[in-house]
Amino acid sequence: MNGDLYREQLLDHYHNPENFGVLEDPDIDITQENATCGDTIHLTAKLDDEGRISKVMFEGHGCVVSTASASMFTTEVLGKTPAEIEAMQLPDIQQMLGGVTLSMGRVKCAMLPLEAMKKGLQKLAKSA
Ligand code: ZN
Repeated sequence: MNGDLYREQLLDHYHNPENFGVLEDPDIDITQENATCGDTIHLTAKLDDEGRISKVMFEGHGCVVSTASASMFTTEVLGKTPAEIEAMQLPDIQQMLGGVTLSMGRVKCAMLPLEAMKKGLQKLAKSA
């Protein structure tokens, strides 16, 4: 495991995040905070006719780990069903981030976009 390479990859996403912004007329619109670090994420997403995630965007401000995780997450979850996202756990996020082992303090940062998405999907299911 090359630690520097991993950090560079995360920094790259941090400085040039993918899918940064807000979707118009989204199916999911949720803001989630990670109080321990001060990260905030505003996630908007759309589902296609089959109920799969078709587009995700995020905005907010956070540390390198939460921002990089959100940047990769918005691409990672495309085409997934709500059930598939509900089943995603920390190992999936670690793998998405390049197989890193996160310290306890960073786990919440890395999990923030997934937790926001899960919460948003639950909200959507209730309103349907
Ligand atoms: Zn953080």
